[in-house]
Amino acid sequence: MEAKIFQNLETNYKQPSFRFLFVIVLVEKLVCMIPPYLDLFLMQPTYHISEEACVLRSESSGKKRLKDLLQQSDNRTCADCGAHDPKWASPTIGVFLCLRCCVVHRTLGPNISKVLSVTIDEWTDEEIDAMIDVGGNSSANSIYEAHVPDGVKPGPDATNDQRTKFIRSKYEKQEFLNTSLKISNKNSLPPSPSKKNGFHAPSSSSSSSSHPTTKLECLDGAIGHLKVTVLQGANLAVRDMLSSDPYVVLQLGEEAQTTVMRSTLNPIWNEDLMLSVPENYGPVKLQVYDYDRFSADDIMGEAEIDIQPMLTSAMAFGDASMFGDMQIGKWLKSHDNALLEDSTVNIVDGKVKQEVSLQLQNVESGMIYLEIEWIPP
Ligand SMILES: [Zn+2]
Repeated sequence: MEAKIFQNLETNYKQPSFRFLFVIVLVEKLVCMIPPYLDLFLMQPTYHISEEACVLRSESSGKKRLKDLLQQSDNRTCADCGAHDPKWASPTIGVFLCLRCCVVHRTLGPNISKVLSVTIDEWTDEEIDAMIDVGGNSSANSIYEAHVPDGVKPGPDATNDQRTKFIRSKYEKQEFLNTSLKISNKNSLPPSPSKKNGFHAPSSSSSSSSHPTTKLECLDGAIGHLKVTVLQGANLAVRDMLSSDPYVVLQLGEEAQTTVMRSTLNPIWNEDLMLSVPENYGPVKLQVYDYDRFSADDIMGEAEIDIQPMLTSAMAFGDASMFGDMQIGKWLKSHDNALLEDSTVNIVDGKVKQEVSLQLQNVESGMIYLEIEWIPP
């Protein structure tokens, strides 16, 4: 029986991960007896549907079912770092994630973890069923973090390097999986993610995205700084033959720009840019360009970021380190701004932070995802 289950684990691993997860849940919890084992012998992927899942599935709208699952208490924090209010999810694994962990998941490749926005992206019924079948973050983590050593799991404020190391160990190498269930045949593991297509133009810094470039030029009279983490772009416009070589320029009096990503419409920058905030500040202007070696760079859309809600709430609260995690402000989506969804200002581990999702303007397509942190003087 055990050998058969292992054989099935290997077979199922080539299927979406939720199937794999489901099989492990079956083995570990021994919840179902005859029918699922019958399915195992027949090599048919199948799903154990809990009573809760049945109730959820009976509801009509797919998005409603997904949002109900998101309201479950264990899904109110990111499965990987514990950050509050995750808005992303991986239906291939069955976990809800914060934006920063989502960016790392994207580097794993969609065969290991395909990530979608809970609020923005369109979901298929199968993807929603996959999330519901796994049952949420606690259920997934009971498998993937069965043997995670103390102090290894990152917190919400972890660096990108810490986060990446943990997420790769957890899902790609499966280091914390219950050892008695771990797949021993390395060949059955998903292929390693392809090399990132990061490319640095001659004019840009040669450092990689894991060692972000930081440009900090204080202007006289600056009232503080913004650390803008340019996380990723999605569905950007084509400006070369088939793709583009995008980079992002931010402007708030001074300018700062990311490195150029070669031949991609879905770049992952994960790069920190620093801007000093003058006393009479306006919005941050964001522009995306296509790097062109032989001619002027082409514009690939733009957007304005209203930083007033963040600065007003940050000033009102003063020393954020005196407060626990909480929401302190909000920049609301409206017809005359570029927001894809409302953008809340939060105190997270004593820092004032804001996640911003932008629909690029004056261009056929493209979205940019950022995190902004207020750094007081
Ligand atoms: Zn996270």
